[in-house]
Formats: sequence, structure tokens, C-alpha cells
Amino acid sequence: MDRPDASLTDRFARTIAHLGPIPLAQYMSEANAHYYAHRDPLGVAGDFITAPEISQMFGEMLGGWLADIALRAGAANGCYVELGPGRGTLARDALRVMKGAGLTPPVHLVEGSPVLRKAQGELLAGYSPAFHDSVDSLPEDRPLLILANEFFDALPVRQLIRTGEGWREMVVGMAGERFVPVPGDRPMDAAVPDARRDAPEHTIIEVCPAASAIMRELAGRIAKQGGAMLAVDYGHLQSFTGSSLQAVRAHRKTDPFTDPGEADLTAHVDFAALAQAAQMAGCRIDGMGTQGEFLLALGIAHRAAALARANANAAKPVGEALDRLVSPQRMGTLFKVLALAAHDWPQGAGFAPAVQ
Ligand code: SAH
Repeated sequence: MDRPDASLTDRFARTIAHLGPIPLAQYMSEANAHYYAHRDPLGVAGDFITAPEISQMFGEMLGGWLADIALRAGAANGCYVELGPGRGTLARDALRVMKGAGLTPPVHLVEGSPVLRKAQGELLAGYSPAFHDSVDSLPEDRPLLILANEFFDALPVRQLIRTGEGWREMVVGMAGERFVPVPGDRPMDAAVPDARRDAPEHTIIEVCPAASAIMRELAGRIAKQGGAMLAVDYGHLQSFTGSSLQAVRAHRKTDPFTDPGEADLTAHVDFAALAQAAQMAGCRIDGMGTQGEFLLALGIAHRAAALARANANAAKPVGEALDRLVSPQRMGTLFKVLALAAHDWPQGAGFAPAVQ
């Protein structure tokens, strides 16, 4: 079989040969666009497994959260929005719970991959989902009830590195046949916040302008139209220092600079930066915490017990899935949750009262 990545490797190599090294963010953006456009990466046979693929309980908890806040806000006309819905599993589970609560929202999916759009369209056929290339085309006339799981970590990051000559942007060049990350030539000191400018040599600051831009747009819409959002991802509650770029292929970490477009490239999400973007765009932050604590606060253990009671054969796998989602040694602590809402909406469930 042809190597499906040949064109991307060649294209990067040609661009670098003609124009010089390319920004890391461009490398990550094009590699991931290629990666997601050509496959369904989820599941045991794929490259990685996500929370909604582990258990229906994950989507049920998130759907319950949306239904609860929308009903208390008196906003039965809101639409369901999901960013990067994968196979559509989270939407299916969330929408089932919302329906049980009397909500049948129109469904809007922001998805870049044609392969995954097809999978989502099939799984969610009963909901006639509308697809969007970006958040800009989402409806403007009604509240937005938004979920995003493992979406922000796939967006391209920019890295700035402190060298002996000052701050530089990380770019991708070539050493022989291999792609290598190196500091670029142009001074970037002005792009570094004053407080961090004197960091020691070799310090890397990673930022995700695409994530902040998407959050600003969505939070601005929620502030105007009403609505609420949950973003779940692996990352940090406080801004961090250093590179978190990684590549995963067939459930193993690989080198992000080998075979671009053939492995899933991700970076840790900076939840403090996302929350700041949301607040600046006019939203209230209802909470930031770990996935484990959040799901337990929403009652996932009770749901697991009910599923186990209903089907004795399910007791073991349900218990295992629960442990995987909430245990601190597994996904419970590594994954974080950010909840936000319009200021005139009630406080979302699962967290202590709002930070104003
Ligand atoms: N939320 C799903 C899938 C996570 S994988 C789950 O939890 O199982 C990342 C998802 O984001 C995929 O659906 C991918 O195609 C989508 N995606 C990644 N970058 C994107 C972009 N820039 N624009 C739109 N969708 C994107």
C-alpha cells in the first residue's frame, strides 16, 4: 500500500528546502488535519481511546449537566453543540439523557474530518445533525449548550524558547532526512509576557492561540445568546512551562517529528488560559477541577450501581469503566473540566458556587 503520509512528508520537506523552517504550529496544524481527515483514530484497533468510548456513563453525566442547567435557566430552545465529536458517541449518550429530561435540541457539530463526519452522521442520523467547519457559523438566535471532550488538545500550539540571544519561536527544520525542532532566527521577545521574560535559558513557553480564539468566540456568543459549556481535556489548571507536545500511535507514544500525519499530535491544555479567555469574553466560570471529582459530584457512582443492578453481567465492566474514568491513578486526575455559563444563567452543577 502507498504510504498515505508520503505527500505530507514530501510537502513539508519541499517547503523547508525552499523557504526554510516552518513554525511548529503550522507543522502541528497540517499534520493533525491530515491525520484526522484520513481515519477514525478511536478504539482498540485505532490509536487512542477516549472517555465516551470507555463508557456510556461519561456522556450521560455531561448530558445531564447540560439538561439540568438549561432547564433551570428556562432555556428549552437551546441547541446542542459539540466540538470535535469523534464517532458521535458522546453526543448520542448526552442527547439520550437530555431527551429523557424533555429536551430535544437541534444538533450542531463542529468537525473538520470528512471520515468522522460520516461516522457522526450515521450514529446520530435520528437527530439530523448540522455540520460546521468552525464555530463561526453556529446559530446566532438561541442559547448554545456546548460540550468539548479532547478537542482543545488537538489544536496547534506555538512554542517560544529562551536562547542565549533572547526569545525565539520554535520552528521545524531538517537534519538530513529528519524533521527537527529548532529555535528560529527572528527575535520574539515582544511576544513573551514581561513577568516571564527573564526565565532561564532553554525555558519553553507553550501557548495555543487557536484554543484561546475559539474560546473567545464561543464565550462571546454564550454571553450574548445565553448558554453554558463544559470542556474536558488532559492538561493543567495553572499555566505551565515546557513543551507538552506528544504523538500517540497505536496506543504508544512516538516521536512527533517522525511520519507527520500518521500519529495523533496533542499538547496539554492550559485551562487557566481558556478560563481567562472565557471571562474576558463575558462569561462566568462555574468551576475548574479534575474529571474524577466532577463525575463523582454528578453521581456517576450511583449510575454505575444502577447499571450493575440492571444487568449482572455488566457489573464487572461497568466497575472497571468507572475506575478508569475517575480514579486518580488513571484518567481521574490527569483530565480536567472547565464549566462556564452566561452571567444570567444559574450555577452549573458539580462545583462550589461560581467565581465571579
Ligand atoms: N470528542 C471525541 C473525539 C476526540 S478526537 C471523543 O471524545 O471521543 C479529536 C476530535 O476533534 C476529532 O473529532 C477531530 O476530527 C476533531 N478536530 C481536531 N482538530 C479539529 C479542528 N481544528 N477543527 C474541527 N475539528 C477538529
